[in-house]
Amino acid sequence: MLSDSFEQNKDHVKFNAFEHFKTLAKGKKFVLSNHIDVSYGEGWKGMVEVLIEELKGYSMQITRVNDAYGQLEVDFNPITKTHEVSIWRVLHNARKTSRRICVECGDSLNQFKPELGFKSKCRACEKTGKGGTGTWLDKY
Ligand SMILES: [Zn+2]
Repeated sequence: MLSDSFEQNKDHVKFNAFEHFKTLAKGKKFVLSNHIDVSYGEGWKGMVEVLIEELKGYSMQITRVNDAYGQLEVDFNPITKTHEVSIWRVLHNARKTSRRICVECGDSLNQFKPELGFKSKCRACEKTGKGGTGTWLDKY
């Protein structure tokens, strides 16, 4: 038996990267800038969760987390210089990983076409224009 409250979940709620990131960042050593710019698609959710686990022990202020030309870019101000290199290394790996994951559906992107530059969406998502209609989101 379904209660009425399930009705509310019928419409797909659009993925909100800022809320997702803010929730994950709670209780971590790093802080978020008041003017932080957060934008990425639902397909990168899992990757961002792994990234936050890797960054949780570092003191810094994160100022930007977004999809820039098909890769995840994270900007930060180090609070202490001690771990700056380690943080850069973690972020570099996340950037590399993000190039291989569709920003919308999370499928792997198997090829990089130099003539197209970095692509953040898989073919299926490009075809359906996902990120707009939300049709394919129902699958996830
Ligand atoms: Zn896709």
